[in-house]
Amino acid sequence: MKVLVVGAGPSGLTLALLLAKAGIKITLLDAAPTVDDRPRAAHYAPSAIRVLKAAGVLEDVRRDGLIPKNMTWRKIDGSVITSITDVAQPGTPDALTVLPLNMLGKVLLSHCEGNANVTVLWNKKVVDVGTDGDGKGAWAKVQGEQGEETWTADYICGCDGANSQVRKSLFGNEFPGHTWDAQIIATNVYYPLDKFGYDDINFIIHNEDYYMAAKITTDGLWRVSYGEDTKLTPEEVVAHQPAKYERMLPGNPKPGDYKLLNVGPYRIHQRMAPAFRVGRILLAADAAHLCNPFGGLGLTGGLVDVGGLAECLIGVQNGWAGDEILDKYDEIRREKFQEVINPISSSNFLRVSATDPGEALVNDEFLMMVEKARTDKETREELDQGVFAVCHDFTQYYDKEKAPKAEARL
Ligand SMILES: Cc1cc2nc3c(=O)[nH]c(=O)nc-3n(C[C@H](O)[C@H](O)[C@H](O)COP(=O)(O)OP(=O)(O)OC[C@H]3O[C@@H](n4cnc5c(N)ncnc54)[C@H](O)[C@@H]3O)c2cc1C
Repeated sequence: MKVLVVGAGPSGLTLALLLAKAGIKITLLDAAPTVDDRPRAAHYAPSAIRVLKAAGVLEDVRRDGLIPKNMTWRKIDGSVITSITDVAQPGTPDALTVLPLNMLGKVLLSHCEGNANVTVLWNKKVVDVGTDGDGKGAWAKVQGEQGEETWTADYICGCDGANSQVRKSLFGNEFPGHTWDAQIIATNVYYPLDKFGYDDINFIIHNEDYYMAAKITTDGLWRVSYGEDTKLTPEEVVAHQPAKYERMLPGNPKPGDYKLLNVGPYRIHQRMAPAFRVGRILLAADAAHLCNPFGGLGLTGGLVDVGGLAECLIGVQNGWAGDEILDKYDEIRREKFQEVINPISSSNFLRVSATDPGEALVNDEFLMMVEKARTDKETREELDQGVFAVCHDFTQYYDKEKAPKAEARL
């Protein structure tokens, strides 16, 4: 089987590693000259950690990353509303891990470069895709440095992010859902928030100055993501950042008190493509669905997608499943977005930005559960298991007569 993956972002690179382990040859085409290093994802939930482990990169991710301790919801004056201690489920093999996306990209790329089954080609922009007339293969039109090229494969996987050309080739501008009336400003900053009693992950509930502050590297870099009015231009966002920090962060810091590395404005969305499969073309991760970043479900959901897609393609490659297993991928991954990722991520955003912090422990069901879990073992267990609700085992659709048992497949 020949698989073409469009996009060498974290989802495309992970999919390539998973397929390569099963002996499938993959070519990744990416429009950019190298790995994207904008400040975006940093937290990967246990469900995504399982996929990174299957791709063979977890040891390196853990070497470069950190396992956070507590997750705390606070009022703007820093006082604690409630908290989950040891949120990462440390000591379990799938413990939530933190690693800035650019560093994750480098780890994934180095593994791909060392794998004979994977070829990564940069400066190759896919401009159109389609399934052959007989339905037995797929093609991609690509703009490369030498002009337009046509690539063919058995399957094409669109992992080309929020503005996916693969999705646009299938559905035009149709990407149902909504865009929030807010922009999130993701900043990376050296400022010792832990000295003010902040935990490794903090959500500050406030109608105007809501934010998330989390430690993202072992040398003390913090991610501070806050909301701004959508009317502000990128230049106005940058100009407003010192006043925003001074007003909302503990210690009311002035620019000389911290070292700011990045300021990245992002519009935020809740959207899902009409289908994740059309013929020989498949969509995964941001190309397939988008959610706001509060709670870190974007790439977590994307990595779980590619874990499932790999199981399906490996099943087809080995004759353990028919091609219709890819319809299951389409059906179930859309269901997981609609029933788990979309509602939970939406609640996460509304919790920080539109809740009365004084009433949160009587009005917000999730925070009430978090509070209860502090003393009730069963509720804590429910909370810990809840993070796996995005998962689905596609190997259950393998033909039991043809597929070897799970232990033999590993
Ligand atoms: C501020 C912020 C914080 C976030 N925090 C978290 C978090 O903590 N945890 C989490 O799980 N998620 C988080 N997310 C979401 C996460 O960053 C995204 O879900 C993730 O980056 C998507 O990965 P991807 O591989 O699907 O797409 P991308 O990372 O966007 O990669 C797409 C790749 O496709 C390439 N490409 C695009 N178009 C073409 C084309 N036409 N031809 C060829 N190549 C193309 C691009 O160059 C790029 O390399 C956050 C997002 C934001 C904005």
